[in-house]
Amino acid sequence: MFMPTIKKPENVCFWCHEEVDELTQRRVVDDFNKYYRPCPSCRAKMESDPDSIMIYEEVEAPGLIDQSDLDGMYPTGRWLLMKRNAFNDIFGKADNDLWEASEETHSVGVSPQIYAILIEKVFS
Ligand SMILES: [Zn+2]
Repeated sequence: MFMPTIKKPENVCFWCHEEVDELTQRRVVDDFNKYYRPCPSCRAKMESDPDSIMIYEEVEAPGLIDQSDLDGMYPTGRWLLMKRNAFNDIFGKADNDLWEASEETHSVGVSPQIYAILIEKVFS
């Protein structure tokens, strides 16, 4: 079994690992608890396109010591922005739960398998 050996310091951004003075809340909808609050630079990227959804990879076990969970799952730190209509084309029919979650929060966690598929779609 994998045992995490690294702990995230409080003033380090979970998403880019940069040390910052203050972590921020996302403007759109802050569904992230304190542990996952982005630094100003990551936040600007996350909010750069209002027509996009932030998609982050999540797994069932923590990768860091004392990692806080997000709805029972643990983000890995990998994320991307995807146009809402592209997202809806894929998940609107295939996965109603994912689609509804994204409507509320403008972000959604997906398994590594789905994340790999989305990476291909976004960057192809
Ligand atoms: Zn950051």
